[in-house]
Amino acid sequence: NRRFVLAKRPDGKPDRETFERREEDVPEPEPGEALIRTLYLSVDPYMRGRMNAGESYAEPWAVGGPLRGGVVGEVVDANGSGFETGDIVTGNLEWADYATAPGSDLQPVDPDLAPISTALGVLGMPGRTAYFGTREVARPQPGDTFVVTGAAGAVGSVAGQLASMAGARVVGFAGSEEKVAFLEDDLGFDVGIDYSTTDDYRAALEDAAPDGVDAYFDNVGGEITDAVFTQLNVDARVAICGQISLYNAEELPTGPRKLPTLIEKRARVEGFLVGDFAPRFEEATRNLGRWVSAGDLEYRETVTEGLENAPEAFLGLFEGENIGKQLVKVGER
Ligand code: NDP
Repeated sequence: NRRFVLAKRPDGKPDRETFERREEDVPEPEPGEALIRTLYLSVDPYMRGRMNAGESYAEPWAVGGPLRGGVVGEVVDANGSGFETGDIVTGNLEWADYATAPGSDLQPVDPDLAPISTALGVLGMPGRTAYFGTREVARPQPGDTFVVTGAAGAVGSVAGQLASMAGARVVGFAGSEEKVAFLEDDLGFDVGIDYSTTDDYRAALEDAAPDGVDAYFDNVGGEITDAVFTQLNVDARVAICGQISLYNAEELPTGPRKLPTLIEKRARVEGFLVGDFAPRFEEATRNLGRWVSAGDLEYRETVTEGLENAPEAFLGLFEGENIGKQLVKVGER
């Protein structure tokens, strides 16, 4: 059984040395625990926070301890867990070929409803983050201008489409020409801005959103967010979902930020965690599933083959190598 542990805490940017791969026996499930064979593993930006010693909203990983994340797998030994052998389940499991978990920590995945990988993407945690962040925090109204950063990623791509469905004009920031084409041609965004070739984010935004910004869904932070703040309209809503441009910073940059506009515009800036909406997860999954089935919600996945390449897949999130949800395919169904 191949499994990854945290080799050391990264200073700044993590690299291959942050991870250690071990070969161990397949774990024996305790009574009530299932043994699961990993099919897909999710790598997510929040995992960077778990590599630090300090408190973040997710508990720090121990050095030498296992890495964990969203997994979709097949129950190979049900062992009184409440599942049956052959069931497809999802849960927060180790980065490994095989892992054990109590039945109460696993949720069933219906392979007839949608491809099973979507339980980690559009119909999983990232989809739900977009759902609640857009509808409950940024709250785009018909005719509003909605801006999203990290727009071609797992969360951003869904957030922008939900804002379109709400009747907003949607502008997305993403890091390549290919991603901008994805936003405009496949997802129906009104305008995509390739920030990697743009020096003046504010001027680009003035062109893309001449009526200003009513709702902003931020996955990135930093200078792009500074530029968006200068363009907010009165009563704008800002949903702070993520700040990936700062996750590898050894020291958070300080300096003049565009906060005076918030006063003038009576804007509301609100951070949120998807977990706060746990009592409504079923509603989100049901609606997202319905929209995907109806063809109203598009999604894309970038699939890296092989558990051994999970570290590269994770590191690639910080280089913008993914379009849509980044997954690692670990086993064949
Ligand atoms: P993505 O699929 O969006 O992948 C990350 C993307 O971020 C990359 O593809 C890259 O795209 C972009 N990026 C990376 N580094 C930078 C940078 N320095 N500046 C600008 N863009 C950068 O990941 P997710 O959809 O899973 O997550 C998106 C955000 O949502 C993250 O910040 C994450 O932490 C947050 N999040 C928050 C949750 C919550 O409960 N609040 C829950 C889930 C996620 P590009 O090529 O465009 O640069």
